Amino acid sequence: MRKSHTVVLLAGLLASSAFGAPGDGAQAVGVPERFDNQKVVRITPRNIADVHLLDQISGDRWTCGPGGANGEADYRIKASDLPLLNQAGVPYQIMIDNVQALIDAEQAELNDPFRDRAFFDAYQNYASVSSYVNTLASAYPGFVTRISLGNSLEAREIFGFRLTSPVPPIGGSPRKPVVFFNSLQHAREWIGVMTNMYVATQFLSQYNSNTTIKSLLDTYEFVFVPISNPDGYNLTWNGQRLWRKNTRVISGSVRGVDLNRNWSVGWGLSSGSAGSSTSETYRGPSPFSEPETQALSNYALSVPKLVAAIDFHSYSQLVLRPWTYQYTLPPGIAAFNRIGNSMVNAIAAGTGASYEYGGPDILYLASGTAPDWFFGTTGAISLTIELRDTGQNGFVLPVSQIIPTGNDGLAGAIALVSGLCRADLNRDNVVDDADFVLFATAYDSFATNAADFTGDALTDDSDFIIFADGYDRLSCP
Ligand SMILES: [Zn+2]
Repeated sequence: MRKSHTVVLLAGLLASSAFGAPGDGAQAVGVPERFDNQKVVRITPRNIADVHLLDQISGDRWTCGPGGANGEADYRIKASDLPLLNQAGVPYQIMIDNVQALIDAEQAELNDPFRDRAFFDAYQNYASVSSYVNTLASAYPGFVTRISLGNSLEAREIFGFRLTSPVPPIGGSPRKPVVFFNSLQHAREWIGVMTNMYVATQFLSQYNSNTTIKSLLDTYEFVFVPISNPDGYNLTWNGQRLWRKNTRVISGSVRGVDLNRNWSVGWGLSSGSAGSSTSETYRGPSPFSEPETQALSNYALSVPKLVAAIDFHSYSQLVLRPWTYQYTLPPGIAAFNRIGNSMVNAIAAGTGASYEYGGPDILYLASGTAPDWFFGTTGAISLTIELRDTGQNGFVLPVSQIIPTGNDGLAGAIALVSGLCRADLNRDNVVDDADFVLFATAYDSFATNAADFTGDALTDDSDFIIFADGYDRLSCP
């Protein structure tokens, strides 16, 4: 009863207010968008009416989903809409008092002629990241190979690079098992680009001094795709700092598909994406309707053996496992829990930052995401990392946080790959007779790749060597 009364009351308030949803995907392109007198508020919704009210006055939820450990969610709103929250009695806390001030400070930092120009001392635009990849490739020949995954809607190259040591793959297979790290599906999440590049740089610079990193690069190949959404990224560097989606023209001034709702696994569910093109989580007209998700997924399918993947996002400091589109637990939940917990522990030990591991219960349902597709399609241990911070600066994270956040990503990435337990075929965290039966079945039929560790599409003697090594240890890392 009270709820419906509240809704009627709110409808009245809304009708009389001069609000227009900020960030409704309909800004004019080419005109720098300003966010004066806009705030980010964290609300703890009491009911669906609260969520509905915030979705209407905001149109731009900053946390990738409402929810969170305490059901909290961050929204960007106009200061003039604060009375609506007060009148409705929605509990809220102001996280960012002036969004434009943060952006102005960031701009001042980027434009400061006396600023240290080292790569990780500032955010870097598309051209700069691309040229840095070339620098790595020439500085580390035999380790880094630049690749092109395809082109964006506006014909920008979606570039990346393969990174591994010159130590050859086991058993004469053509390529080592691959770990895929991508970032920036969401254009405004700049820290993801820097973190991804930082992980790669540390892998290279520490190869000779860090035995764990050496072992990882000797065993696996890493594929880095720093800018998954080049057109959106370009927009954020040219006046639309808070743009999230790609730049697909829908109609009139309405633009953009949320690339991380455009993958095929779980696509189309309204519980975790939007069918309306003005929404910040618009999923597009069909799975893989966008060239960016096509390029990424086609590349992943071309890899002989994909074993793990991280999709870097910001913010909230979370490590998220599949499924993101449903609460049902994924197969191999024991392995996900072991690895996910080891990642948050490694981050805490490495940098002191507090991250939380979990599933959609700690965030919110999101359907049509990359990690669900990677896991559902390839079986790779696939996770989302929501990087810093916990809402004090949101997407406009100060440059002083680039290296500390990079070290979060590095610790998490090392823990993930170190925790892979490939002989644990049923992913129950022990390598035992049950796994041996699975291996023997695959080995008997030979042509199946069910226990193909080397990526040559066969389960053969070279796979047996890898399986036997894990079986001898009888436990996962
Ligand atoms: Zn994101």
